[in-house]
Amino acid sequence: MRVPFVAFLVLFLIKSLVAAVEKPFNFNETPGKLPKEVVPTEYAIRIVPNLDNFTFAGSETVKLNVRSPVHQLVLNGLELKIEAASVDGKELPLPAIKTYNEKELLTLALPSELPAGDHALTLRFTGKINQQGQGLFYMRYQEHGSGARKVMLGTQFEATDARRFFPCWDEPAFRARFQLTVVVPENWLAVSNMPIESEQKIAGGKEVRFAPTPPMSSYLNVFVAGELDFIESRVGPTQIRVIATKGKAELGRYALEASAEILKYYNDYFGVPYPLPKLDQIAIPGGFGGAMENWGGITYYESRLLFDPKSSSAETKQNIYGVLAHEMAHMWFGDLVTMAWWDNLWLNEGFASWMGSKCTAHFNPQWEVWLARDLPRDPTRRTGIAKEAAMEGDARSTTHAIQQRVATEAEANSAFDDITYKKGQSFLRMLESFLGEDVFRDGIRRYITAHKYSNTTTADLWSALSDASKKSVAEIAAGWTEEPGFPVVTVKREAGKVRLTQERFTVNFKSAPPLLWQIPLTYSVVGETPATLLMMDKMAVLENIPTDRALKLNLNGAGNYRVEYDDQSWELLIEALPKLGVEDRVNLMSDAWALVQAGRAPVSLYFGLVEKLPASTDLAEREQIINVLDFVNGLLVGSSELEKFQRYARSLLRPTFVTLGWQPKPDEPPNAGRLRASLIGALGHLNDPEIIASCRERFQKYLAHPTSLPPDLRAPVLAVVGRYADEKTWNKLHELGLKTTSIEDQQNYYNALAGASDAKLVKKTLAIALTDELPTSRAVFLVSRVARDSGHPDIAWEFAKANMKALLAKVDAAGANRYAPSLFTFFSDGSRADELKKYAEKNLAQASAPEVARVVDEIQFRAEFRDRLASQLPALIHSGAK
Ligand SMILES: [Zn+2]
Repeated sequence: MRVPFVAFLVLFLIKSLVAAVEKPFNFNETPGKLPKEVVPTEYAIRIVPNLDNFTFAGSETVKLNVRSPVHQLVLNGLELKIEAASVDGKELPLPAIKTYNEKELLTLALPSELPAGDHALTLRFTGKINQQGQGLFYMRYQEHGSGARKVMLGTQFEATDARRFFPCWDEPAFRARFQLTVVVPENWLAVSNMPIESEQKIAGGKEVRFAPTPPMSSYLNVFVAGELDFIESRVGPTQIRVIATKGKAELGRYALEASAEILKYYNDYFGVPYPLPKLDQIAIPGGFGGAMENWGGITYYESRLLFDPKSSSAETKQNIYGVLAHEMAHMWFGDLVTMAWWDNLWLNEGFASWMGSKCTAHFNPQWEVWLARDLPRDPTRRTGIAKEAAMEGDARSTTHAIQQRVATEAEANSAFDDITYKKGQSFLRMLESFLGEDVFRDGIRRYITAHKYSNTTTADLWSALSDASKKSVAEIAAGWTEEPGFPVVTVKREAGKVRLTQERFTVNFKSAPPLLWQIPLTYSVVGETPATLLMMDKMAVLENIPTDRALKLNLNGAGNYRVEYDDQSWELLIEALPKLGVEDRVNLMSDAWALVQAGRAPVSLYFGLVEKLPASTDLAEREQIINVLDFVNGLLVGSSELEKFQRYARSLLRPTFVTLGWQPKPDEPPNAGRLRASLIGALGHLNDPEIIASCRERFQKYLAHPTSLPPDLRAPVLAVVGRYADEKTWNKLHELGLKTTSIEDQQNYYNALAGASDAKLVKKTLAIALTDELPTSRAVFLVSRVARDSGHPDIAWEFAKANMKALLAKVDAAGANRYAPSLFTFFSDGSRADELKKYAEKNLAQASAPEVARVVDEIQFRAEFRDRLASQLPALIHSGAK
């Protein structure tokens, strides 16, 4: 049954109030479905996969600590068939075993009361090997070098899929030791969390036993096996390896070096050294598009880990470092110390995002990490600065608090969103700069030491940070993690004083409940020493600000709030633009654009600012503009103003491109290559005839001499060629995509196909999603990519609707709730919102409701904003076009 939207919203508000009274971790009071009387302490699991029919046979013995007498055992299991069960060596009759697929539970009725104390449960079971990345899954791929078709195995358990691999107490607070034994073909390498303890030849392959893990949550188990290679090194007592399919391990060299650097940094930062004997970074050619922090055996989609100096772009390199730093932070935050329940997922993800960015910025200051574009987890999401992406969503009626109640598995999977990751990161950054770097680190060290090998709630983190800082962190944090949304601070100059007022900032959300925050505010008169103010009330006053000097709030854009200046302050800031650093300029632009979206300022506020910016080749600043132009361009498809707007937009971007030129210079900064690529893509998208002609010419040269196209230019040149492709060019791109064994090149080719704007070619591209040309996770998101890039979201949706069952079979648990609604994200016609609601009522599970609501809001916002642009843009683009 689906909950109507209004009711859903009300529920949501109640939920966020409930979350407000959080206590420190207490096992007995931790939410979850499983009774707390029985606690597993050690699992010994043996799995024998069958690669002919993609099933497996398993057995396990689980040591149990029974805390008070019980008459039945309740644990998790899903799509497993239990063939035998015994307790303390006594076989249970089969009717005593019941499986509840809906609840994902397994119950074993016991013949007599099981007294408190130690017991052992033994189970024999079978299960299936999936084609999508959940539970145990298989991947087909083409081997590098030989081109032979191969198959390998991997697992993905977070949030709640370990129960598809073996029956278990699959909630994060049930920590236990896991010892895995597997049977694999003799020429395979098998990898798990811990090193191999023993290996022996048996009939049909070899049996590999891994050492037992320390006590950990079930979702952190991992098993990967196939024809694999690795390279290795050491950091102190820790063996580190990069593992990839045969022929590709050497492409892990960059990741191996980065891992060593990051591991040393974290060993010091956390104050507790990495606790396992080895750390593997494992590249897998399918399953999912991201990475997963299994303790000691982190898995990555291949292009997130492997770097080919001959063909990979600077952007790929930066992304690899960022993802490594994020996942490795989880080895402490997430694995050594784990959130008690999924309502505190942000403790894992917000923290790892912040820590990963901090570490990446520390070693690579030239990358502008805090400003850099973030790769979204879900390729259908718009890109943008991480903080901005979170703030866009957090301004809407469909947002939620960072800490939110989670009752079901589907809700746990839905919790992996921008608010959890990016607002979490953004708030921690603001808090660190308020408490001070050293104090903050000392608090983290206390937290890790106090809770290692255990679980926590957010309250535990605040109490460690309060002890270290002697400030009431929980009170400051409450508004940011327990309430939805964030504030805008308005700045008003009055006779030598500056009056500040805070209110909730919203977009397309008329009657938002008012809220109040404790804002760690930073400000300075431009060129003077910065100052800090903890703004606790609705109003505050700054004294002694000279009336003729520019005042900038939210220094470096490090705070998670918007600022709205009065006219006088705004004019002074525009005059002072050349004196501001890039972070502050980007912050002004982002705030100006958000104010326009919110209907608090006319479109000319933003474009007026852009036109007055000093000439610059700063990546983040230009990408901020590119994102806005791209968004407006998308809204204007089909409008009579489109051509004029494109001419105006090109006039804003061209001067920077002319400065950079086509040819990379040997001594240019690393971000120049990224900016050149972004500009070529953007100008091509905006119909720039010179760029299009030049891309075509370079593509022809590339076909004859692949090295003629520098790695940074491959993606944008192919994208522009793809966008304006005729059938012959489309076929050529497709042929290249089929042939390559490089995942990065393959992505570039298929992305180019997805951008083709000719309706006939759009259909050809979509058909690929049903084949096995691409890994399942990529195939299914090809449709999303077409919806976003081709200009034909309508054709993409018709195709998806007709083939939904086949497409969903390729989506993992995290993506299933989002898939259908996400395809509507790129419509800006109000009637599509109704269409989605009707479709959802008939076809989607209730777990999709939050995503449906989010997309309905997005379509309605786009429709309203498009009308507003239509009335305001003409004056601007007619006067401004050069
Ligand atoms: Zn993470």
